[in-house]
Amino acid sequence: MIGRKTMAEECNIIKEIQKNSTREKEVVQALEKQNGLTWEEDGVVYIERRIYVPNNKRIREEILKENHNLVDVGHPEQQKMLELLKRTYWWPGLKKDVKKYIQGCFKCQQNKVQHQRKTGELHPLEILQGPWQEISINIIGPLPKLNGMDTIVVIVD
Ligand SMILES: [Zn+2]
Repeated sequence: MIGRKTMAEECNIIKEIQKNSTREKEVVQALEKQNGLTWEEDGVVYIERRIYVPNNKRIREEILKENHNLVDVGHPEQQKMLELLKRTYWWPGLKKDVKKYIQGCFKCQQNKVQHQRKTGELHPLEILQGPWQEISINIIGPLPKLNGMDTIVVIVD
């Protein structure tokens, strides 16, 4: 079910890409080279077997969303998301856009903050080099007098 839905969504994205004939300078230059690595087919430009996504904010954001927010993708971090995207798509500045997208993802930023808080709470005890380097003193009292004394002092080395 999920796979079928993703495929349908991918078809829609391809249709959107086909409708958009704008080509960035890098892409035009790559096409002109005619070196077999870049070619155009049915209104889609392929660069090294990846689909070139024209400079359209809506299409690119849709693709970024698909490769980040869907349940089966599960908010990958920057490098993983980039690898995932590059299996199918490419555009100039893709890496920068991925970084920006993650920075703008509420859930990812929230996780980051929680993670930082967690590490902040931990105060692991240091391994001491010898005796008397760390001493704790607890003074308990005043207590009811017993043999003329009313205070307990606990010293831990
Ligand atoms: Zn996220």
